Amino acid sequence: MPAPAVSAACATLDNYLLYPDHALAGRIAEARERLGRAAVILGHHYQRDEVVRFADFRGDSLQLSRQAAASQADHIVFCGVHFMAESADLLRRPHQKVLLPDLQAGCSMADMASLDQVEQAWEELERLQLADEVLPVAYVNSTAAIKAFCGRHGGLTCTSANARQVLSWAWARKPKILFLPDQHLGRNTAHDLGVALDEMLVWNPRQAYGGNSWERLRQTRIWLWQGHCSVHARFQPRHVEQVRADYPGVKVLVHPECPFEVVQRADLSGSTEFIIRQITQAPAGSIWAVGTEVHLVHRLARENPHCTVLHLDAAGCPWCSTMFRITPAHLCWTLEQLLAGQAVNVITVPEANRAAARLALDRMLQLAV
Ligand code: SF4
Repeated sequence: MPAPAVSAACATLDNYLLYPDHALAGRIAEARERLGRAAVILGHHYQRDEVVRFADFRGDSLQLSRQAAASQADHIVFCGVHFMAESADLLRRPHQKVLLPDLQAGCSMADMASLDQVEQAWEELERLQLADEVLPVAYVNSTAAIKAFCGRHGGLTCTSANARQVLSWAWARKPKILFLPDQHLGRNTAHDLGVALDEMLVWNPRQAYGGNSWERLRQTRIWLWQGHCSVHARFQPRHVEQVRADYPGVKVLVHPECPFEVVQRADLSGSTEFIIRQITQAPAGSIWAVGTEVHLVHRLARENPHCTVLHLDAAGCPWCSTMFRITPAHLCWTLEQLLAGQAVNVITVPEANRAAARLALDRMLQLAV
């Protein structure tokens, strides 16, 4: 039975959380229709089906932010995580507002690089007279404060799709890169570009000088911040070995946020859009084991019956627990509050970081990659 409408006067989020997911579907659809073009709903690929089915656009964080900025909407409802809403806020047009249905929807990887830690690392590099040789590069899966840090120091952002081009651009300007916050994407990409593993170092923010000697720091071409995605870092070489034993002829396709040893054992590695393209264009009857977030893998399996799509870790089925915080109840509450004239959970990047973070994004976008 559908949940009865809640009057605006008693519409706290708690009222909505009382209902099971399916009970709110009719109300979300109705609110969405009544809002029309005044609001656009963005659904990240890793979002649960009960939410993503209401999205006007489905995609990765940067693509969604750009689509929202190009839309007529006054309100951008981002069913994703906090750093994604920040990126949408950086790229939005002046009259638009970005709403995150649950403020608790963060990203464990983005939280692994705080501005204090990165500034401390930079001071240490300055003390060693190395900072002038370094360009900071931040994966877009980072806070606006970290993007702003990169913008202020001549650096830029990258995505998993353009990391190769961005690192090449950075090395054409400085001999060393500080890569934030995902060590795996940094390592996999640098290796792809021909950098030896012993020319890379992990920077542990809890130790002085990242836990490295002056000599090793000097020899390094890329310092990899000790961060990771809690979803992709769970994949292990044994998962690849197991699926190859169970499904002879299977193609293993993984995201470059996976550990190096997994990427090396896979047949193919690439961004979410690359993964989607491989599956939609796969030969009929082919079998794929995909190492990425489980909601996306299950959706790919459903939408591509011409091939067999398996999750690389069928026993573990890792999903993004923070993305999972956005429920139909949060979406329904956000939309109905908009109908009542109230924009809830508005995400605004502070002025102190706004221009520099936008600069880091623009430098990447100007590479046209
Ligand atoms: S999948 Fe990983 S990088 Fe993406 S939001 Fe979740 S924890 Fe962050």
